Order: sequence, then C-alpha cells, then structure tokens
Amino acid sequence: MRLLIMGAPGAGKGTYAEGISKHFGIPHISTGDIFRQAMQEETPMGILAKSFIDKGHLVPDDVTNEIVKERIQKADCLDGFLLDGYPRTTQQAVEFDKILKVLEIKLDVVVNLLVDESLIVSRIVNRRLCPTCGKGYNLITLKPKQDGVCDDCGTELYQRKDDNEETIKSRLSVYNEQTKPLIDYYNKQNVLLNVNGEGDAKVVTKEIIQAIEEF
Ligand code: ADP
Ligand code: ZN
Repeated sequence: MRLLIMGAPGAGKGTYAEGISKHFGIPHISTGDIFRQAMQEETPMGILAKSFIDKGHLVPDDVTNEIVKERIQKADCLDGFLLDGYPRTTQQAVEFDKILKVLEIKLDVVVNLLVDESLIVSRIVNRRLCPTCGKGYNLITLKPKQDGVCDDCGTELYQRKDDNEETIKSRLSVYNEQTKPLIDYYNKQNVLLNVNGEGDAKVVTKEIIQAIEEF
C-alpha cells in the first residue's frame, strides 16, 4: 500500500498517520520529522532546513525531493509507505511522479484531510511532541496521561519552535498558495480520497482506515 496524507498544518497528518501506518504495516515517513531530527543533530541539512522552518517557509524543493527519493528506496518501503507532508508543492509532485515512474511503482491513495481553518490555530498552539518517539499530543483534546510526559516512552514533551501564532500565519498562507493546488493535481490522477479530519483522533483514524480499504 502506497499512501500520501495531505492537509493544512495542524490538520492532524502526523496523528492519523501513526495509526494508519501501524494498521497497514508500512513505515510512516514524515518530511517534517526528518527535518526536525536533522535539526536536532545539527547536520548540514538540518542547519539549512532550520533557516526555513523557523520562519514558516518551505525547505527548498530539490533538498526535499532528494531526501524522499532516498528514503522510499530503503528496504522497509518494499511493501509500501505512508508519506506525510510530501509533496507540498507542484514542483515536488511532478518530481515525485518521475521518481515513482523510475521505480515502477504507483500511489494507491492520497488522503486529503478536511479541517476547518478556525480549528487549526488552536490545534497548533496546543500541540506538544515527544522528542524521542515522535508521538504527538494536544493539551486540550489529546492529553498525555501524566502532564508533560510521553505515555509511550516517558520522555518530557516539547513544543515545536514553529508552533507559534506568528509562524502559523505564514505556514497557512504557504499551504493555501503552494500545497492546496495538489488536491486538484491528485484528483485528476483519480487517487484522491477526501476525509473528515475533525473529531476524536481514534474515531477519525478508524474512519480513514475504512475509507482507504474501500477506495
Ligand atoms: P505541519 O504540517 O504542521 O506544518 P510538518 O512537520 O509537516 O508540520 O512540517 C514542518 C515544516 O517542515 C514545514 O513548515 C516546512 O517548513 C518543512 N517541510 C516539511 N515537509 C516539507 C516539504 N515537503 N517541502 C518543504 N518543506 C517541508
Ligand atoms: Zn515518546
């Protein structure tokens, strides 16, 4: 199963992707997670990515395309993958199609999360993450069992530096201008699946899995 998950920042891509990838037994590949890890390790790519991410801008297409191209050729992707946060521009989508063609593989479903813009800012400012296992929480809707600590691995949670109101505005306009056109792009390829992204995370995850299976 080869899947993409798309949606505005804060639409819940990471949260739902975790359950979906577990269900289908495929790796969850988030370009945002890859960049954050590289930023933490202060690799040359991480330092470059940070200069864009902290301002709410996109990392350049050529850098991002190269990372994904390498990642999906790893052994764990043989039976499929779930890409989260990529492609994010038309240039990336066109390049990704070329990569898929060379590898002689096809996308099965592109999941597009529908979430009202009014929900997004609150979701993002209340987001907390585990630096160790990547699990996402929300201070209002998806609280950890113990305040500030990851349920799964016990690590102290942190807030992303780009999860502040100022940066969110820029990320939302980048999304509207550069990423939204991809909905139409994948609709034309007949692989688009629109799903509701609002509501209880467990319930929504189940609904998405069912919709993918019925697609
Ligand atoms: P969100 O969906 O909440 O914005 P992500 O973790 O997907 O969070 O992405 C965080 C940041 O990483 C983005 O704002 C962007 O700067 C960078 N990024 C992630 N994926 C891409 C991509 N495909 N192309 C360019 N930049 C990306
Ligand atoms: Zn954890």
